[in-house]
Amino acid sequence: MDEFEIIRRYFTRAASDASVLLGVGDDGAVLRPDPGRCLVCVVDALVDGVHYPGSLSARDVGYRAVAVNLSDIAAMAGRPRWMTLSLTLVSGEPVWLEDFAAGLFDAAAPHGLDLVGGDTTSGPRTVVSVQIIGDVEPERWLTRSGAGTGDDIYVTGLPGEAAGGLAVLQSGGGGSSAETRLAQRFRRPEPRLEFAEAAAPSISAAIDVSDGLYADLGKLLAASDAGGSLDLGELPRSPALQEVFGEDEALRLALAGGDDYELCFTARPEEAGALQVVASGVDLPITRIGTVTAEKGLHCFRDGEEIEFGNSGYTHFAQA
Ligand code: ADP
Ligand code: MG
Repeated sequence: MDEFEIIRRYFTRAASDASVLLGVGDDGAVLRPDPGRCLVCVVDALVDGVHYPGSLSARDVGYRAVAVNLSDIAAMAGRPRWMTLSLTLVSGEPVWLEDFAAGLFDAAAPHGLDLVGGDTTSGPRTVVSVQIIGDVEPERWLTRSGAGTGDDIYVTGLPGEAAGGLAVLQSGGGGSSAETRLAQRFRRPEPRLEFAEAAAPSISAAIDVSDGLYADLGKLLAASDAGGSLDLGELPRSPALQEVFGEDEALRLALAGGDDYELCFTARPEEAGALQVVASGVDLPITRIGTVTAEKGLHCFRDGEEIEFGNSGYTHFAQA
């Protein structure tokens, strides 16, 4: 099958939205933005063996490729509109392509996200690069740089579960219900779009957690020219993570494990009530885990005592 047949067969679907004036099939797509809205563009590539294990199903690869980009749109409080797909394939195997496309459209369809173009080539390993163009009301987008001293630091969901799930997948596990839950969290990230869009007026800064909570919160604080203190006793605990990995490793994964695609964000303390209302409205737990400080650097505390944490700091978490 040549690339034109691949594009026709797997990636040409009628647009769901009248904003797509010209989609797949020409030299470029023509899109009509809603008047008065600003555009938000994100792109992220997944490389076989680097961003996911080679054993991950084609359907999950397609799903994740869209979901990780939706998560960036969520971190900006944007609304996803259109996507393009740049695909490097080793063999162009029909069964793989069929499943990959199914996963891709599974992730996109609930958001009315249309595939409007792309590029298809062959190469030495599979690389899936998705670009999403979203939109946002003027002045309503979130950034990493808006955190102020005294703001509360929050995280959505249960960070660490996806990294636990990756370890489960890599070890060929997945038998228990806890292992299955963790693996599912790696395979099917849930971008926090609804929460972010609704909560944006209460949020001062946001980042999505792709590299690990500690590392990504550090980026937010650096961009805000601030520091922070994290209360490890307040970190949301995943029962599945604790069951499979034990307490210390669960804590290490919650701080340092990547691939969660939860949101980490900051807000003035007086926004706490409004944030909880939005969170329960979309059935998403959010947890206050720390405070923004004027002093630079991100410091971890437990029971009032500072605990050294580096991303390789697992042994520092021995229980007192
Ligand atoms: P060109 O040579 O002009 O760049 P291509 O042959 O690469 O055009 O692509 C033909 C059409 O198919 C274009 O509209 C392009 O956007 C679209 N396309 C190519 N690959 C993909 C893909 N993987 N997914 C969606 N659309 C694609
Ligand atoms: Mg062309």
